[in-house]
Amino acid sequence: MAPRRIVIVGASLAGLRVAEGLRSHGYLGEVVLIGDEDHPPYDRPPLSKQVLSGTWEPSRTYFRTPDELAARGIVHRRRTRATSLDRDVSGGVVRCADGTEERFDHVVVATGARARRVGAWELPGVQTLRTIEDVRSLTEAFARRPRLTVVGGGFIGAEVASAARHRGLDVTLVEALPAPLSRVLGTEVGMACAGLYRRNGVRVLTGVAIEGVQGGPGVESVDLTDGTRIDSDLVVVGIGAVPNTEWADGGGLRLDGGIVCDASGGAGARVWAVGDVARWYHPVFDAHIRVEHWTHATEQAHHVARAIAGQAVGPMTAIPYAWSDQFGVKIQIVGRPSPDATFVLASGTPEQGRFVGLYAAAGRVVGGVGFDQPRAIARVRRMVAGAAEVGAAVQALAG
Ligand SMILES: Cc1cc2nc3c(=O)[nH]c(=O)nc-3n(C[C@H](O)[C@H](O)[C@H](O)COP(=O)(O)OP(=O)(O)OC[C@H]3O[C@@H](n4cnc5c(N)ncnc54)[C@H](O)[C@@H]3O)c2cc1C
Repeated sequence: MAPRRIVIVGASLAGLRVAEGLRSHGYLGEVVLIGDEDHPPYDRPPLSKQVLSGTWEPSRTYFRTPDELAARGIVHRRRTRATSLDRDVSGGVVRCADGTEERFDHVVVATGARARRVGAWELPGVQTLRTIEDVRSLTEAFARRPRLTVVGGGFIGAEVASAARHRGLDVTLVEALPAPLSRVLGTEVGMACAGLYRRNGVRVLTGVAIEGVQGGPGVESVDLTDGTRIDSDLVVVGIGAVPNTEWADGGGLRLDGGIVCDASGGAGARVWAVGDVARWYHPVFDAHIRVEHWTHATEQAHHVARAIAGQAVGPMTAIPYAWSDQFGVKIQIVGRPSPDATFVLASGTPEQGRFVGLYAAAGRVVGGVGFDQPRAIARVRRMVAGAAEVGAAVQALAG
């Protein structure tokens, strides 16, 4: 029997795309989208780019107006935090912090992730960036022209540094590993990133950790384990994200650094998970992977919407893709680059600022990175999907 009521928990990119996908695949039953934020569903990538650099108002990130959601027959419950998931033979119920309950035939978990914080560093002026409220508060802080220290050289940290330099701030970026982004892209590409940031006026300190943040009530300095003291007025911590799974604990799901799903997003009978919170089995990599990227969240959402709407779907094989805009360079990543894979330069050089690199395991392409090389990256994505032999792939990209 077709499900009559779908409840989606998490009203952001992945949740919204499931809701809209259900409608575009002809689903006529009730769709309820529960979210704990007080905004229409909005887009996060521009927060660390256009909004933080001052070219967009935060409201420009809204995907849909309330009227547009209503016109699609999607009930959006804002400011509503789900606190538990109870399942029974025919579906189940999501309970919310305000005491309400939402009965479902199918439930989709799309609660994403939150920025990781460090309790010992909590002071006014120590911030993270995940939400519209975060970017508003950072934008206000930027206007006071603070000396900014960015902790963590991942994508968010690098984009914050980029936006801050765009606004003329004095920026120091601290990364515990030998180079920014090296946890994902390896040291060679990480060094290219460090060069890019330094050329754009960022003081980049690597291979050193944070001892503590000093001040009171606001930030005064950041102390490093090698004894360096960085005078700072603002600290942005970009040390990764934690999947929001706690509320669903007790719902009989398998939680293991995300909600563990099969290759179609199924997490149990009539339960699905999509986006940053989900750890799907990926047949190309023969592993459960959690991907915190926009395109993958969208692709998973469409896949699950089709499945719930009754269309036959096999395993999802889409190869992860992500981009990051930093200091005027579009960095694009496909597949599963990893420091353990062998890095092979396929075209250009990091020094030129434009290049394509491949990551290989057992002689096959498992990932790729490009600096300002969008066309080549589209080809590399297909090479990862087809597990291309690395030598042939380098030749094809050079030709
Ligand atoms: C600043 C920033 C920049 C980014 N830039 C890029 C980029 O350039 N390229 C790229 O590929 N990706 C980028 N990403 C990643 C991309 O935005 C995410 O992959 C995407 O937002 C994931 O969508 P999601 O819906 O799974 O999760 P989220 O966007 O995290 O949404 C989850 C929603 O669920 C809500 N929620 C959580 N718990 C509950 C609960 N118990 N009850 C109700 N609601 C709940 C949350 O408040 C949130 O609204 C960026 C992310 C950030 C934060």
